[in-house]
Amino acid sequence: MDSHAAMETLSTDAAKIQGLDVLERAPILTFHGIGEPQRELDPGEAPFWIGVERFRALLDRVAALPTLHRPPLTFDDGNLSDWAIAAPELERRGLRATFFVLTGRLGRRGSLGEDHVGELARMGMGIGSHGVDHRDWTTLGAANLARDLSASKAVLERICDRRVPAAAIPFGRYDRRVLEALREAGFEAAYSSDGGTARRADFPRPRTSIRADMSARAGEALLTGALPLARRLRRMVSMQIKRRM
Ligand SMILES: [Zn+2]
Repeated sequence: MDSHAAMETLSTDAAKIQGLDVLERAPILTFHGIGEPQRELDPGEAPFWIGVERFRALLDRVAALPTLHRPPLTFDDGNLSDWAIAAPELERRGLRATFFVLTGRLGRRGSLGEDHVGELARMGMGIGSHGVDHRDWTTLGAANLARDLSASKAVLERICDRRVPAAAIPFGRYDRRVLEALREAGFEAAYSSDGGTARRADFPRPRTSIRADMSARAGEALLTGALPLARRLRRMVSMQIKRRM
C-alpha cells in the first residue's frame, strides 16, 4: 500500500467513526458572477467572478462526467450573468443548477429581474433564497433574521408559484442560531461554503466556491471529488464547531 492509499484508508476509518462517510459524499460547486460585472462589486467580491471561457470549460468537464458523478451546481447572489450567460450554457449541455437569489436586488442593474427568475424556474432550474440584502445572518437580531429569511422565501414563492425549500447562507457565515432560524422559516435545506463534499442529510450542506484565483489543479480535484485528507479533516472540525456555537 502506498502512502496515498494508506491515507485514504485512514480517512475512511476516521469518517466511519464520526458517522460521516466522507468518501461517499459529493462536492457541490458554487458560482457567483460570470464574465464582466454589470454592477459595482462589493469589497472582496471580485475573486468570485470568473471568465466566460473558464466557465464554459468547467461546464464541459461536468457534462462529460457520468450523470451520477456530476457535482450539483449552484449560483449565488442573483447576478444578471445567471440569466445572460449561465442559463444558456447549462441548457446547451443539458445541465441543471440551483440559483440562490437576493430578493432585495431583484430588478436592479446587473442583477436578475423577477421575469428572469420565473423563466429560470420554468426552465427546470432550482430557485432558492440567499436572503434579501446580502447581510451576514450571524450579525442580525432574531426579528431581522426571521424577516430576512421569510420575506425572501415569500417573494420567490410568489414569483415561481412553487415552494422554495432551500437557502444559501450569505458569506457562508452561520452559527446554531442561524441554522435554527432557517428551519423555523421552513427551509428544509441550507447550503454553506465550508468546502469539501456533502450528503443529502447535511444541514447545512457544504459547498465549494469557484474562484478566479483557483488553480486548474484545484478545479480538477473538485470535479473528481479528490479533496486532500488534511483539508477534509480541518473542514470537518470547523463545521462541528460552527454547528455548536
Ligand atoms: Zn452571496
